[in-house]
Amino acid sequence: MCAEIDPVRRPDEVPCARRRPAWGALLLEDYRLIKRQFLGLSCPVCGSYRIRDHGRSYHYTYARCDVCAMVFAKDIPTRRRLHDRYVEGYIEQRRAFFGCADGRTWDDAWENDRNEIFDRFLPGFEAVAGPGRRALEVGCAEGRQIELLARRGWEVVGVEIGADMVREGRARGLRILQGMIEDFWFPCKTFHLIVMSHVIEHLADPLRVLRMLRRMAGPGGLIIIETPLLHDFGDRDHFHFFTEATLQAILDRAGFIWSDHFVREYRRSGVPHKNVIACARRR
Ligand SMILES: [Zn+2]
Repeated sequence: MCAEIDPVRRPDEVPCARRRPAWGALLLEDYRLIKRQFLGLSCPVCGSYRIRDHGRSYHYTYARCDVCAMVFAKDIPTRRRLHDRYVEGYIEQRRAFFGCADGRTWDDAWENDRNEIFDRFLPGFEAVAGPGRRALEVGCAEGRQIELLARRGWEVVGVEIGADMVREGRARGLRILQGMIEDFWFPCKTFHLIVMSHVIEHLADPLRVLRMLRRMAGPGGLIIIETPLLHDFGDRDHFHFFTEATLQAILDRAGFIWSDHFVREYRRSGVPHKNVIACARRR
C-alpha cells in the first residue's frame, strides 16, 4: 500500500515465534529488571519510588503510586511470555467474550466508534498534513482501523502480534508487520499520526514505547490513544490502569502535549465499560 513506510529492521519476514529478541531489547529488559532489583519498584508514569500495595487478583499483585496515583501490576510477564500470549487466537477469544455492544453488531458499533474518533480529532489536521500523510497503528488487529484511515486518504501501516489477525489483514491488501512494536525501528519522523486502541494498558513499559513512538512521529505529529478507565483487576492482560490525569502525565513525560479527549461509556454483554480517548501532539 505504501512502500516508503519501511522500518529499518523488518522482522515480519521471519516467523515471529522462532525469532530471538533483538539484543537492544534484551539489554533494555535486563536493565529494567536489574534497576528494579537494586532500587525497588518505581512508578511507570512519574518514576517515583513512593509505591504502596494496592491489592491483588488471581493473576497479579498491584501497586499504587503515592505521587501520581497510577495503579499498575507489580509482576508483569517477560516480553517472551507476552508475545506468546498474543501470537495465536487472542483477539478472536476477546471478541467472543465481549459479544455485541448495546444490541448493535460488533462491526457496526466498532465502525461508528472509530468514525466518531476520527471526525473529532482529524479533519483540521488532515487539511494541514495534506496528501501523502502517513499513519501507524500499534496493535492494529486485522487492520479495520487503518482501512478506515486509508479511505480518508492516509498511507497506512499496522503493527500486530497476532499471526491470525496479520494474515486476515494482509489478505485484504493491508500492510501489516507482525511483531511487538518494540521490535521495529522506523526512521525518525516517519509518521504524521499514530493510533493505539486498547494497547497501552497491555504494554510492559508504556513510557518506553511512547518515547519510541515520539521519535517516529514527525514534528507536530498526533497520537490518539484509547484505554479503559474502569479498573478490571480480574483481567490478566491489563497491567496499567490509567485515569485521564495519569494518561496526560505519561504523554507529557514522553514528549507529547495533551490536546483533547473525551470519555465513552457503554455496556457490552451487560458489563459497564468506560474508555478515555485522548489526542496529543508531539512536542
Ligand atoms: Zn507516579
